[in-house]
Amino acid sequence: MLDSLFARIDDQTDALIALTQDLVRIPTINPPGEAYEACADLLGERLKRSGFDVGYVRAKGEVGDSDRYPRTNVVARREGRGPGKTVHFNGHIDVVDPGLGWTVEPFSGVVRNDRIYGRGTCDMKAGIAASVIAAEAILADGVRFDGALEISGTVDEESGGYAGVAHLAHQGFFSKPRVDHVIIPEPLNVDRICIGHRGVWWAEIETFGKIAHGSMPFLGDCAIRHMGAFMRSLEDQLLPVLASRRTAMPVVPEGARQSTLNLAAIHGGLPEHFEGLPSPNVPDRCRLLLDRRFLIEEDLAEVKAEIVKILDDLTRTRPGFRYQVSDVMEVMPTLTAEDADVVRAVAESVTQVLGKPPELVVSPGTYDQKHVHRIGHLKECIAYGPGILDLAHQPDEYVEIEHLVASCKVMAASALRLMGVPLQ
Ligand SMILES: [Zn+2]
Repeated sequence: MLDSLFARIDDQTDALIALTQDLVRIPTINPPGEAYEACADLLGERLKRSGFDVGYVRAKGEVGDSDRYPRTNVVARREGRGPGKTVHFNGHIDVVDPGLGWTVEPFSGVVRNDRIYGRGTCDMKAGIAASVIAAEAILADGVRFDGALEISGTVDEESGGYAGVAHLAHQGFFSKPRVDHVIIPEPLNVDRICIGHRGVWWAEIETFGKIAHGSMPFLGDCAIRHMGAFMRSLEDQLLPVLASRRTAMPVVPEGARQSTLNLAAIHGGLPEHFEGLPSPNVPDRCRLLLDRRFLIEEDLAEVKAEIVKILDDLTRTRPGFRYQVSDVMEVMPTLTAEDADVVRAVAESVTQVLGKPPELVVSPGTYDQKHVHRIGHLKECIAYGPGILDLAHQPDEYVEIEHLVASCKVMAASALRLMGVPLQ
């Protein structure tokens, strides 16, 4: 049965390329959330023609949604013969700004050297196209299955997914009994399965001082110097500890297999951009934005406490040191069990299509799996897709057509395995 399905997918290579190109040519740049409706429509109308029931869910009231930039998600479902398992393919339709440095037009979807180029080819419109062609091939091949196939195109993954997967998850779209297994075709490489991601804590640290004339700094108290002291403590006390804190999570690349801290932004004193000449002041406040990535072995309360301890130590030892910490964003780490059905089914399918078993990996950054897990309470979720991880968000982003076709076969075979279709 798989032979005929795989042959059908090979025959559909041109359709797979064309659908990827059509999706890439809609510049769904986020922010601000350009052309979401057009892209959701393209997917929805296509799946309607292929026999799916299609619904559009606009995330009214969520951050970013407006009539100018509607946050429109599309969810398509095709019922099988009777009750059974539902397999859901979820792809985000938004892409990041193309940025500079391209040698091709970023939204052209041009094909060169067996690759499709363009913003969103790798991350992750090729993955969406592969899931659509996989589902269509199953239907066209007349495979009889119980349960259901679902495909969704969701918004705002690049900015946290709150108007996308999180919004749908709150409405039960990613929970049992509606859905049993979720595959997210994010670009983690065609021969790897991504089973989770590290956690995130973004925080703003503010230090305070006392304003005075810049020619007599001794009459004031410099908030930037206080922040400097805090940053020195981070360098001396925290960063070496984080680097030594290793995780059992198989994070790729290897450098991210530990706790990390990025100092993401800093500001104090005069406004960043101003007309004319500076006026001399001792700054009385300074703000630092921290991006802390934590491990499944770490506890978020402790992650916060070790920062607060450094600040409290400084309050005790450094005259005039005062601070405030504000939470900006929290994402808990997520990890799907290696023996979960969805991991096993996709691993078997990768082995079959590529001739060797996949590597199980964990993503250094987060993606929509967190919402499926935390809001939908569904543990059966992974990322698997054709794109090359290192190309995401880069200029001249591309997807290999060979990977596109292979991942499409893997998705089709995985769906059948998960729905319990006998493959002999
Ligand atoms: Zn992505």
